[in-house]
Amino acid sequence: MEILWPYENGEVGEFYYARYDHPALAEVERALGALDGGSAVLFPSGTGAATALALGLLAPGDTIALASGAYYGTGRLFETLARWGLRHVEFDQTGPPPDGMQLLWLEAPSNPLLTMPDLAAAADYPAPVVVDSTVATPVGLRPLEHGADYALHSATKALGGHDDVLLGVVVCRDPAAADALRRFRALTGISPAAEPARLLLRSLRTLEVRVARQAASAAVVAERLSTHPKVSTVRYPGLGCLISFDVADGEAARRVETGVRLIRNATSLGSVASLLESRHRWEGDRVPAGLLRLSIGLEDVDAIWADLAQALDNA
Ligand code: PLP
Repeated sequence: MEILWPYENGEVGEFYYARYDHPALAEVERALGALDGGSAVLFPSGTGAATALALGLLAPGDTIALASGAYYGTGRLFETLARWGLRHVEFDQTGPPPDGMQLLWLEAPSNPLLTMPDLAAAADYPAPVVVDSTVATPVGLRPLEHGADYALHSATKALGGHDDVLLGVVVCRDPAAADALRRFRALTGISPAAEPARLLLRSLRTLEVRVARQAASAAVVAERLSTHPKVSTVRYPGLGCLISFDVADGEAARRVETGVRLIRNATSLGSVASLLESRHRWEGDRVPAGLLRLSIGLEDVDAIWADLAQALDNA
């Protein structure tokens, strides 16, 4: 497919150059906007969406209040942006946010400790409020209906759902804010290509049934994990596909992640395939050594449990 559309009689049409817009992008943004109840702006990854939102909204000297325990990469991104004068502080998102911030960044639920933000406490905040609702998905939570200004997703996860798409999206409550973000996207070139946008459209057709089944299976697996003698803590917020749980130590976690057969030992979440990994390898400074993150896929729930149980029994 070409990335340009010729002018007609010298006039610029709806599409002219793919960095600004293209048909698959326009179509998938309409679908994503409807899911979250706002105006969607697509980016080449969830991290690209976060970068564009932070740089598009803020100026040097501004401070972001970030939910502690939010996706590790988000804190790393803000550390990287410190070179350009953006500051961030962490706070406990289960309580009221700190005063005087220029942007509030919540995560619903946080990955991988799975705390839920106090959305009511953040609703009247004088600065813009972003909710990264990647794990909840719009099927589980529509943050704009709870007073947030922006819902952000790594569409790489449940929205894409098949481990073959890297994309991110910001859904804005205010259509003018979406237009400003689109202008920023075109000027900075953080623009998504057509092929992943088309793959995402395919995936969205099955989003609701996938998430419903994943959440139902996750509730069953979380319940069974909570009575397993090798498991000490189970975290499951009651929505979405993601569970985290602790085994004795890092050695035991390694035996579990290398002992599963049906469940894939890989990073990421929200896929049709169940995925499990020790998070200590990535964020050892802030999670227990024995923490395992499990994303429940569409396999038969008893087959998922049988695989996990044999790996735990042998750990
Ligand atoms: N937000 C959350 C909650 C995530 O889990 C991730 C990735 O793991 C991201 C954002 C970043 O998304 P991407 O990998 O698409 O850049």
